[in-house]
Amino acid sequence: MKKKGFIITIAAPSGGGKSTILNKALTKLPQVKYSISYTTRLPRGDEKDGVDYYFVTEDEFLQKKRDGFFLEFAQVHGSWYGTSKEYVQGVLESGNHVIMDIDVQGVAQVKQQGDDIVSIFVLPPNYSVLENRLHARNTDCIAQIEQRLINSKKEIDQLNEYDYLVINDDLDKAVECVVSIITVEENRVKRYVDPIEEFYKN
Ligand code: 5GP
Repeated sequence: MKKKGFIITIAAPSGGGKSTILNKALTKLPQVKYSISYTTRLPRGDEKDGVDYYFVTEDEFLQKKRDGFFLEFAQVHGSWYGTSKEYVQGVLESGNHVIMDIDVQGVAQVKQQGDDIVSIFVLPPNYSVLENRLHARNTDCIAQIEQRLINSKKEIDQLNEYDYLVINDDLDKAVECVVSIITVEENRVKRYVDPIEEFYKN
């Protein structure tokens, strides 16, 4: 039966383990496509342009913003981040789903536009685990880590805005949990296009 595509957002404080969960979950969900964001921040570690982000200059970003290129955009940790409207619409029209890693400001903007979204927040089991993971990541200087921790507290304060909370204590369980959420959401009656008609057709 034909299904309607929907948007999934996944958020987590930096160091929450989101990228790992996301990558593993996506290998089990071929019908879910990852939206690569545009950002003005510099690549970190072994991040690659066109894989992790589209890395653009501030001028390029602001031009795209003026052109109405973005479905949503926000300034996070002093850099711009945004999602391509065209990419998201293309995936949804094909009946697949889009997953995006965006912050709470982005989630609010997408919701405001009336898009049907399922929002997931990933947290480590407690605050000291978050701190330790950020320090162990070794890609940021101390000042950046401090800034990320301050921002994390603000993000965690917004937790009640989200639909689902996944605790990343055990990686495999967290991945399974994200896959289950998406699978359940996919089977809501409202996701089907004319299911009764389709049922009697054949
Ligand atoms: P990072 O620089 O650590 O990759 O990401 C920093 C923050 O920016 C994260 O909270 C992430 O969810 C958010 N972010 C990444 N891409 C986007 C985007 O396209 N839009 C919005 N609103 N936030 C984003």
